[in-house]
Amino acid sequence: MSERIADIGVLGLGTMGANLALNMAEKGFKVAVNNRTVEKGYALRDENGEIGQNIVPTDSIEDFLSRLKAPRLVLFMVPAGPIVDEEMQRIMPLLSPGDIIIDAGNADFNDTLRRSRLVEETPFHFVGMGVSGGELGARHGPSMMVGGARETYASLQPILEPISAKYEGEPCVAWLGPDGAGHFVKTIHNGIEYADMQMIAEIYGILRDGLGLAAGEMADIFADWNTRGLSSYLVEITAVTLAEKDSDTGKPMVDVILDEAGQKGTGRWSVIESQKLGVGATTIEAAVSARSVSSRKAERELTESLYSSVASAKAEFHGDKDGLNELEAALETAKIIAYAQGFAVLTAASAEHSWNLPLGEIARIWRAGCIIRSQFLDDITKAYDGAEPPANLLHAPEFVARVSAGESALRRVVAKAALAGIAVPALAAALSYFDDYRRGRGTTNLTQAQRDLFGAHTFHRTDKDGVFHHQWPAV
Ligand code: NDP
Repeated sequence: MSERIADIGVLGLGTMGANLALNMAEKGFKVAVNNRTVEKGYALRDENGEIGQNIVPTDSIEDFLSRLKAPRLVLFMVPAGPIVDEEMQRIMPLLSPGDIIIDAGNADFNDTLRRSRLVEETPFHFVGMGVSGGELGARHGPSMMVGGARETYASLQPILEPISAKYEGEPCVAWLGPDGAGHFVKTIHNGIEYADMQMIAEIYGILRDGLGLAAGEMADIFADWNTRGLSSYLVEITAVTLAEKDSDTGKPMVDVILDEAGQKGTGRWSVIESQKLGVGATTIEAAVSARSVSSRKAERELTESLYSSVASAKAEFHGDKDGLNELEAALETAKIIAYAQGFAVLTAASAEHSWNLPLGEIARIWRAGCIIRSQFLDDITKAYDGAEPPANLLHAPEFVARVSAGESALRRVVAKAALAGIAVPALAAALSYFDDYRRGRGTTNLTQAQRDLFGAHTFHRTDKDGVFHHQWPAV
């Protein structure tokens, strides 16, 4: 019988699993590992010097589980979907009461709800945990969004806190709520990431096609913006990617990369869930759609040839200091609106699922380690941690001031892009949402009138309580 020496077990040694295991091993935890391709566990131990000494490779699932201290912590890092169910079916008959399964992949939170209910019927525990930060985050400090029972988190905290990213010394990991809360928050994190990246890409489009700047010049602009309000990992890597040269051709790397974006589903899930909750997350929708349109390269080329006669007005963008300041302010303002939408989805989901999501805490654990990490998230934390947390971020005094200051820049940039024929779907979505959300009287009174005319769907009146139907003229 092998000695039960491991503090935690990692099942799945792909990019994320291997790096998380090394991160844990480096922090002094003994980590049992198991992988479909068994050799990867041995390689992880043998190729990582002293850190590797804390890795315990195993040949079978039985061997793996036999090396774990009680209660066993079994962390899954396998592709999301049916493989998680298959692996759960494989290990559950071998577990003991109190053991904890942690699914740390990018699960659809609906699957996490289902799995949580399934495990509730057993003496085991199930934790759905979102992990952000990619390969480097997993290795040196990810941001982790933990769901499941609060009591279960007490068993994980001593391992998760040391391996997490730190923002000014504070660990970027927290228990966020029961069952699917962690994976839901991770999904919306990714949705916001989509919107943020799309808006940056649209500003890049203006700099490239509106101002005719070269990649290297744009790198300097983004690097400059990264020193102020827009300071963030995504803006930082924008500057880095724009500055990079292709060794084959000597051209900027971005100029030799095909303009077809991939997606793995979390952005789409964010949109689906926001629609189910009745929350407009238009910037995320625009970003997901833009990736879909981008992947239809041949169709876009055909359309370009058919509409080549459509003249775009001469771009009125200016590459001087004022012109660049305007683009910077527009991006910053649209970004606030996108994050407000993401947090509005979280607010609605929290009410729908009785999760009581700690919104300030969520912004706090996103400040480091994850892809959307930024200075700006600290401002969001402060807004939610204040004496009167806002119902929507756009109501927080600090953001009212910032959006009021930047709104005209966003308006001018979107208008000029429209005239110049430069696509800015997410920036435009942010502006339109803002204009819709900030007006007390909208236009759906007309929609209600139409619905009542063709379907007797009834309406409310502005001057009397009750539900009304009007006898409209026959059409
Ligand atoms: P990889 O593709 O790098 O690794 C997948 C792992 O799962 C491998 O160890 C693989 O084993 C194993 N595996 C694949 N299929 C099976 C199967 N049928 N049965 C058993 N094991 C299997 O994935 P990642 O590490 O990138 O991602 C893991 C999870 O983390 C996913 O849910 C992903 O969405 C999520 N994630 C990924 C991030 C990233 O930046 N990559 C960031 C955040 C989350 P083998 O070695 O034998 O192929």
